[in-house]
Amino acid sequence: MSEYNDIPPRVVQEIDRQNSRRLLLLTLIGLPLLGYLLTQELGYLGSTSEQLFDYFGEDVHPETFVKVVNFRLAAMLAMGLLALLAFLYRKNPSALHWISRTYIFATGLLLIAIASLLLEFRESFELFYLKVFLYCALFLMPPVMAVAFCTSAVVIYIVGANILMDSPTPSVVQALYFNCLVVAGLGLVVTIQNYRSKHAELSALYQLEKDHRMLAKAKSEIEASSERDALTGVYNRMKLQSDLDALDDHHRSYALAMIDIDHFKSYNDHHGHAAGDEVLRSVAQAFVRSLNRPSDQIYRYGGEEFLVVLPNTGVDDAAVVIDRMRRQVERMRIDHVHRPDDLDIVTITAGVADTSEVEPAQVLEKADQRLYEGKRAGRNRVEPQPHQ
Ligand code: GH3
Ligand code: MG
Ligand code: MG
Repeated sequence: MSEYNDIPPRVVQEIDRQNSRRLLLLTLIGLPLLGYLLTQELGYLGSTSEQLFDYFGEDVHPETFVKVVNFRLAAMLAMGLLALLAFLYRKNPSALHWISRTYIFATGLLLIAIASLLLEFRESFELFYLKVFLYCALFLMPPVMAVAFCTSAVVIYIVGANILMDSPTPSVVQALYFNCLVVAGLGLVVTIQNYRSKHAELSALYQLEKDHRMLAKAKSEIEASSERDALTGVYNRMKLQSDLDALDDHHRSYALAMIDIDHFKSYNDHHGHAAGDEVLRSVAQAFVRSLNRPSDQIYRYGGEEFLVVLPNTGVDDAAVVIDRMRRQVERMRIDHVHRPDDLDIVTITAGVADTSEVEPAQVLEKADQRLYEGKRAGRNRVEPQPHQ
């Protein structure tokens, strides 16, 4: 199972949860049988040696059985204690897990010990119940535990019966070995089956988790790329719309700036579109660098136009921030000697508005209007002009 070393915790938790539920169910199946046997054993305690002899048959010495009855009684009380512990720790999954496993392991062995010492269960219902219990117990055990269980069962059969019986008859020995074979065979078949189905179950879960992780990664990548402008890497117009909607939904105030690169058409005409693209990228990076607050965001609105949204900011403070951006672009001193005015570098003009001046639906229009006021007033400026 080494290839499953990196099983995600979610899968492991799910498997643990399923196993604990099964273990608890099996504990419940085992309890009535234990209860029944306990009352039987208590009944034997009051019996005389002769009564025991009559009951268990000629093959076994009655004195041995007094010891055996005491041993079984103690073992069953221990089982009862384990069941009580399981109940007390029912809220602690890892403790419950181990208590239930110990309980099933020990109960299974105890039942085998009882069967081997009784030589047979006197009523077929008990035998049937024992088989059901053992089958379920083996099925629920992890492979290593199941192998240990079968080995212990065989040892109990042989050692237990041989030591405790004075002189077993050939038919008893035969029955003993037959039982050994049945338990070992059953254990083997169930363990193989169990291992196979667990392996398949784990593979399927593992694959599912892997697919899920891949899909989640692809989804987040698609989501991230669908929000960004491919050329400049800043947010795109779609993201702008959803962010503005969110601000409006929460009735938050904000300032909005519309920024346009001055005489960009002539830049493209003289330097080519590839150089124009490079300018767009550099300007966008300069904008990103000049924003300090994490809540302030920059978007490419279209062509050579950008939009900045500044939550909880008034128009005057926003104008100061946007003017810092304007100066940042100016400082890059990107040659633009062919522009029709008296400047020779790339510059920007911006219009700023906020939600306290106009309705949110009109903020963009107001900023656009101020941008054109800025263009008319000579470009390379922010409208309204920042006070400082
Ligand atoms: P103004 O100062 O009045 O804004 O003048 P302008 O030349 O910048 O204005 P106009 O809107 O006429 O020109 C915008 C130009 O921006 C047109 C187009 O060549 C250029 N442009 C728009 N999108 C892109 C782009 O993705 N890459 C490049 N290289 N240029 C672009
Ligand atoms: Mg424009
Ligand atoms: Mg322009």
